[in-house]
Amino acid sequence: MGKVIAIDGPSGAGKSSVSKAVADRLGFQYLDTGALYRAIGIHLRRKNVPDDALYDETAAAIEGISIVFREGRVYLNDEDVSDAIRTTEAGHYASVFSAKKAVRDALLGIQRDAALDHDVVAEGRDMGTVVFPGAWKKFYLDASEEGRAKRRYLQLKEKGVEITMEEALNDVRERDIRDSQRDIAPLKKADDAICVDSTALSLNEVIEKMLGCINE
Ligand code: C5P
Repeated sequence: MGKVIAIDGPSGAGKSSVSKAVADRLGFQYLDTGALYRAIGIHLRRKNVPDDALYDETAAAIEGISIVFREGRVYLNDEDVSDAIRTTEAGHYASVFSAKKAVRDALLGIQRDAALDHDVVAEGRDMGTVVFPGAWKKFYLDASEEGRAKRRYLQLKEKGVEITMEEALNDVRERDIRDSQRDIAPLKKADDAICVDSTALSLNEVIEKMLGCINE
């Protein structure tokens, strides 16, 4: 098992940019677990699995699914879904289906396997609490609701997605509620995680702060 740096936090706190940069600086691999939930969300949606499907129906629909990261792209059953998983709709279905035990069970092994032979920076919602409770370093990256909505808005705009600031705020709020109130693996800070608030910090300041804690 390699070293794991776990970075959890709510939507839009800047986890992806920070995690990628920290992984680059340390020569670790970057594990984007949100992409796994987004890909599975798309798959279940395409299969018309309802939001209230029971365990067996959900498990049957994802049996044999393949999600692979290759050269910075994400493949769902060999189809490149890197762009499709980044829409607000994909985020919505990721959040809906990630509350299902069948989905979390299916992804647990895939996430842990990623750290078997590599040092990884793993970002998500339950890295420090469930997937890697014994992680080498744990962080909880937070930011104000408005700050996170603004970041989400700018990211999507840059990708050419049509969105208003109000829609971005609603998306962040809706996902906060669903992700933190679900029964299984809810979003929460691990007791031993270091909390970093990125509201008033630049991306570089957050990265340097984390690297400082890691090198202590
Ligand atoms: O981080 P990202 O916005 O890509 O995650 C999409 C959704 O996937 C989250 O809103 C959350 O519901 C789910 N997720 C999760 N556990 C993780 C990573 C993501 O439940 N470890």
